[in-house]
Amino acid sequence: MRALVLEKKDELNLRDFPAIDREEAVLGPRDVRIKLHTVGICGSDVHYFTHGRIGPFVINEPMILGHEASGTVIEVGSDVTTLKEGDRVCAEPGIPDPNSRATKMGMYNIDPAVRFWATPPVHGVLRPTCVHPEAFTFKLPDNVSFAEAAMVEPLAVGVHAATKARVKPGDNAVVMGAGPIGLVTALSALAAGCARVYVTDLSEAKLEIAAGLSPAITPVDVRSQNITDLVKRDTDGWGVDLVFEATGSPQAAAAVFEPLAPGGCVVMIGGQPDPISYDAGAAMVREARVENIFRYAHVFPRCVGMISSGAIDVKPLITRTFNFEESVRAFEIAASAPPADVKMQIELPQ
Ligand SMILES: [Zn+2]
Repeated sequence: MRALVLEKKDELNLRDFPAIDREEAVLGPRDVRIKLHTVGICGSDVHYFTHGRIGPFVINEPMILGHEASGTVIEVGSDVTTLKEGDRVCAEPGIPDPNSRATKMGMYNIDPAVRFWATPPVHGVLRPTCVHPEAFTFKLPDNVSFAEAAMVEPLAVGVHAATKARVKPGDNAVVMGAGPIGLVTALSALAAGCARVYVTDLSEAKLEIAAGLSPAITPVDVRSQNITDLVKRDTDGWGVDLVFEATGSPQAAAAVFEPLAPGGCVVMIGGQPDPISYDAGAAMVREARVENIFRYAHVFPRCVGMISSGAIDVKPLITRTFNFEESVRAFEIAASAPPADVKMQIELPQ
């Protein structure tokens, strides 16, 4: 089948990729075959394209990109009971070893043996079909579109972050960064009960999108406003209950405790390529709780439920859609990091 293949750093081709047809010729008894409809472009896909690696994961052989997917079930294995041909679905891209110690402890996302789409050596899904376990494939209600369903994967990161933060009704929060992950985190924090969420960024266009998501979101342009001053002013000097770091910038991360209230919680979401400094003193005087997250676990059905009920609207985050034939150009545009774009998606021919 034709696929979007990252040959090596800086070289992408839309071409026939027979190895994947051989790999997926036979359907396992508990697998389904999905005809893919929409695949979102993730920052990690773009990073592999522009850098050829993310930390220890290196592109040594051609790899198909894409892991934010929705589609239609076209074939089911003999033991599949919850899905049938024609079901519209989204898919969780990380498959853990079911017998691993981490999986048995409920932390399957940090199973060292997890196989995650478009993380070398595992192929992604920018291609017409894929085979996936029933257990990691989730049926969509009729009122959730394929485009929204392809947003479930990034949304899952925000929901996992809000879960680990243990948001309480009426909490105030700061989300650092108005990229896709920052915005899904802000939406998740509000859905979990936050009264107010301050979202910081350098891009006016992204902050405008953030402000449009909810009247409970306060956009903060860090080029002209100091987030700590603003928070202190609004909270009589107390600070916010939660700070979510979603920029991946060492400078932003260095200041995470500044707007935080005593007894508050910081959630580190943004990936950091290098070790960063951590103000232990500022954390100590607040008895701050610090949480780290890696992807997500057990949240896809919740994300689908919140999109379906209207508790979360991800549509304003989808800023551009491309045809599969335009995939290479879509990645070139994504690599240029247009300031007004949040999430770009690619639609497969149906
Ligand atoms: Zn992603």
